[in-house]
Amino acid sequence: MAGELLTKAYVGGRWVAGRGGTFPVYDPATGEEIAKVADCTVDDVKEAIESASGAFEVWRKTTAKERAAVLTRVRDQLIKEKDNMATILTRENGKPLTEAKGEVGFAASFFEWFGEEARRQYGEAIPSSVPSKRMITIRQPVGVAALITPWNFPIGMVGRKVAAALAAGCTCVLKPAEDTPLTALAFAKVCESAGVPAGVVNVVPCSRARVQEVGAALTESPKIQVLSFTGSTAVGQWLYSRCGQTLKKLSLELGGDAPFIVFPSANMDKAVGGAMASKFRNTGQTCVTANRIFVHESIHDEFVKRFSEAMSKELRIGQGLEAGVNQGPLINKRQYDRLVKMVDESVAAGAKVVRGGKSPGGLYYAPTLLIDVTPSMPIARQEIFGPVAAILKFKTEEEVIRMANATDMGLAGYFYSNDLSQIWRVTEALQVGMVGVNEPMVSTCEAPFGGVKRSGLGKEGSKYGLDEYTDLKYICFGI
Ligand code: ADP
Repeated sequence: MAGELLTKAYVGGRWVAGRGGTFPVYDPATGEEIAKVADCTVDDVKEAIESASGAFEVWRKTTAKERAAVLTRVRDQLIKEKDNMATILTRENGKPLTEAKGEVGFAASFFEWFGEEARRQYGEAIPSSVPSKRMITIRQPVGVAALITPWNFPIGMVGRKVAAALAAGCTCVLKPAEDTPLTALAFAKVCESAGVPAGVVNVVPCSRARVQEVGAALTESPKIQVLSFTGSTAVGQWLYSRCGQTLKKLSLELGGDAPFIVFPSANMDKAVGGAMASKFRNTGQTCVTANRIFVHESIHDEFVKRFSEAMSKELRIGQGLEAGVNQGPLINKRQYDRLVKMVDESVAAGAKVVRGGKSPGGLYYAPTLLIDVTPSMPIARQEIFGPVAAILKFKTEEEVIRMANATDMGLAGYFYSNDLSQIWRVTEALQVGMVGVNEPMVSTCEAPFGGVKRSGLGKEGSKYGLDEYTDLKYICFGI
């Protein structure tokens, strides 16, 4: 399938035109239209739900070993198609090709992991306090899963959700982000080639104009038992409230506002390298990125100098398909305008630009370093989602923990310290779901990914990721 762009929806094992016509997908690096993709309506989504519901009756009865074999084939097919998938991903998302390839591998890792975990969905025998009873539990798939994914990891988030759902014995209706549906459709082809039975995975893209009615159809349907969403907090809250009517299980991975703290005992090389990796991966468009970088006053100037040098040496803007590029464009005009406003308002409020602070044209934004940032500035109060590092100074551990936790979000948090007692104190005090201690990259298939506070509910990946898609059934035997 090299080079082929699939633009139709994938429903019940068939490639179908959307009833709403098509919508355009653009290359954010050039602004060119790449393709016109099926715009699915509520009726298309209902058809997808029906087909997932029918397929569930068969898929739920497969053995874990059979499902593991299918997941392994999807993994193999993803790896085989890695270069092609990564090229599609870079074209519609803008991220550098090496990152896109890494992301396809990341998605594949979930099929391997959940294929293995499928066979370990153990129940328990519970010791009875009554001689006449015996008690056990088993795990069963919840049913049809609605999966809604974002544009910043067009295959990573798809893989993480679909692999867990299928391993548990669920079938799914996937609605990919309107900016990046082509990668998700290429993934549907991967599933088809890997022999995933018809109806088990359905992919229904739709335009931004239709997303609310499609979201309403997915949340209202009594045939959907679980909804897993990765995206903005506002949309997550809307979905959460709507799922109350049918009491669906919910897994929500929402916004982040990660603190990244550098204490005086930190290894400066590691702290600078960690901040660079966390901040500039995917051009800053990740929910776990270092959103607020707090640096102790005693090492602030040295850190800023080294970080600024690293930015100048390591970052190269350009089209993702060009070799050596590691900073792509922002995804769309909406995100671009948001970022420009945030930086301009923060600078007007007193933040100082050390480097960057402007656009070299199109949807590109120069990697930017801001210092003298204070907690009340827009750049420190919102998710930046762009290549802008905002540095705040602190004096004491108590003060920085207070500032780090002064947010509604709680996804990831990072800090650099070599003081063992401090490491435990700060780890426990940070109000986040994931902590990186002297380490900026925490996400992997084996570990639980998820936040607290308004960053979401539930865990993805790891052995806990299957819980979102299974019900625990208790069985009591009278003997
Ligand atoms: P962003 O603002 O970064 O695009 P969103 O939360 O709007 O983040 O988008 C994440 C995903 O949620 C995308 O697939 C998008 O189409 C989808 N989405 C947005 N609004 C709704 C909605 N009302 N119902 C269902 N899905 C939605």
